[in-house]
Amino acid sequence: VEPVPSDIDIAMAQTPKPVTVVAEEIGLFPSELESYGQYKAKVGLSVLERLKHRKDGKYVVVTGITPTPLGEGKSTTCIGLVQALGAHLKRTAFACVRQPSQGPTFGIKGGAAGGGYAQVIPMDEFNLHLTGDIHAVTAANNLLAAAIDARMFHEFTTENDETLFNRLVPTKKGVQKFSPVQIKRLQKLGIQTAVPSELTLEQKRAFGRLDIDPTTITWQRVMDTNDRMLRRITVGQGPMEREKGGFPERQTGFDIAVASEVMAVLALTTGLENMRERLGRMVVASSRSGEPVTADDIGIGGALTVLMRDAIKPNLMQTLEGTPVFVHAGPFANIAHGNSSIIADRIALKLAGTDPVPTTPSPSSANQNQPQPGYVVTEAGFGADIGMEKFFDIKCRTSGLVPSCAVLVATVKALKMHGGGPEVVAGKVISDIYSKEDVEMVRRGCGNLRRHVENAGKFGVPVVVAVNRFSTDTDAELQVVLNEAKAAGAVEAVVCNHWAQGGAGAVDLANAVVDACEGEREVKFRYLYELEKGIVEKIETIAREMYGANGVELSEEAMKKVELYTRQGFASLPICMAKTHLSLSHDPKRKGVPTDFVLPIRDIRASVGAGFLYPLVGEMQTMPGLPTRPCFVDVDLDTETGRVVGLF
Ligand code: ADP
Repeated sequence: VEPVPSDIDIAMAQTPKPVTVVAEEIGLFPSELESYGQYKAKVGLSVLERLKHRKDGKYVVVTGITPTPLGEGKSTTCIGLVQALGAHLKRTAFACVRQPSQGPTFGIKGGAAGGGYAQVIPMDEFNLHLTGDIHAVTAANNLLAAAIDARMFHEFTTENDETLFNRLVPTKKGVQKFSPVQIKRLQKLGIQTAVPSELTLEQKRAFGRLDIDPTTITWQRVMDTNDRMLRRITVGQGPMEREKGGFPERQTGFDIAVASEVMAVLALTTGLENMRERLGRMVVASSRSGEPVTADDIGIGGALTVLMRDAIKPNLMQTLEGTPVFVHAGPFANIAHGNSSIIADRIALKLAGTDPVPTTPSPSSANQNQPQPGYVVTEAGFGADIGMEKFFDIKCRTSGLVPSCAVLVATVKALKMHGGGPEVVAGKVISDIYSKEDVEMVRRGCGNLRRHVENAGKFGVPVVVAVNRFSTDTDAELQVVLNEAKAAGAVEAVVCNHWAQGGAGAVDLANAVVDACEGEREVKFRYLYELEKGIVEKIETIAREMYGANGVELSEEAMKKVELYTRQGFASLPICMAKTHLSLSHDPKRKGVPTDFVLPIRDIRASVGAGFLYPLVGEMQTMPGLPTRPCFVDVDLDTETGRVVGLF
């Protein structure tokens, strides 16, 4: 329809298939499905075992050039591409995307179901509670936060080591017995016996007192609302047992729920046992003697896993054209890796995969019988310097999956900005430079595109550039982008129009992706750095190779952390850079291809359960605020029809 209606109007105009039908079409058994209402279902992990003999489908990552704050259409392209592959080229094609946080949905950016005629539906359910996974993350995160403060409180108010020990070790039928998780802690402490009465007083003390240094606590509380007033809070003000001289108040704060390490664990875990192990090893603080204190030390790893046991199952939904979508996990894209879950990708790759063909004597007929592989298209948040790098170096390294091709989304608008156009600000009227033809400005901005194409090449993966067409783009401008992309080394570059036309507008892109994945070309996938390298060396490699920095400069605080994490045994974790996505450099104002800069590393933190160290480049906001006119002012419920209006 011209002009293209609003996202929610398009989404509401389509009647989704029952999710049971989608499931049947992709070969899931009813026993593998747990429906949540008519249009969403969780998929059990048992499908991985059932299909383990299959060869995986093709694995494609959608990434983008350095974006404007409005987004360049990565999600929209991800959905448009699978609509083209599935509904038009008749391949099995899955999109695997993140679940959006309600922070941006009601804040500045709006929903994240794609846009125009390339969307996940029902888009209101997608953007709101879905099946409660973010709520589960919030519950687990905050249980742990409460447990840390409660443990410190009890250690503080119980002076006697024997009493503290007796309270921590449960008594059943008059006999004290350690719980299984407590036995693990004994082993960690090197205590040989599991009979409580055999412990010496010194061992009882070591077991009972975590002796958390309050200044080292990194675990914050979370909620899924943009609420800047909660960035810094003081806890411990309420009435307490103060007879021991007063339990000290403590400064802490809230993060948005998707910034919780529990969310990053969900995204990177490979199964239930692995999730239990990761949740247990999350480090929340150091003891006064400098030892890391984990969730399992507090005895909470099991309970966290129980809270997360349904969240680990991916959520099946569909596109506007009825092709399957997995929506699963949504870790923050700066302090975490910003990619949807490994489990969803793995299940999708098996469902899109092919059964082994028995070898036949005649090679020519064997060829004819070769089944065509299906496709799994996933999106990496932010620009390629961050999202794609983390996709390859963290997500693929953890999963062992090898991508077949990367799709790099570019827009004329963002390239004009890189070519010297004025700043694009959300909610403000954009200068008419962005709606008038200026071929030279586009050409000047293409340096940014070139850099990202070259970056992808460093991982040995072929790149297809997708120019996401806006109605104001002219043919001459689009042609410049195609030429520059090919010259930079992209295996193909195509204009796509899925926002206005759905899958039909991305058929050229789909064909280019199929060619890149199934052609003669051999993919020699490699990581950017080896894990054994030192922390500083790994950071430096990313800074030089991805961002074009001359080098890195670590603050005193960051140097201390390098020393601490090396001593604590975390130096071989991969690196998850927390950097602005609005520039290749650390300064969001420097567009195009910034040169001659040294990347400042302010601090380094560890997500040991998720499995990465994250250096902070400049200030990073982990709790967004609401703008003057937040998206929520447009949202309402049509009480006659029960439909949501005003989401976009
Ligand atoms: P990203 O994933 O890169 O952040 P999105 O796919 O979420 O970007 O798109 C951002 C916004 O831009 C959405 O509201 C979407 O509807 C809109 N959009 C995307 N592509 C186009 C296009 N070609 N024309 C007009 N609007 C578009």
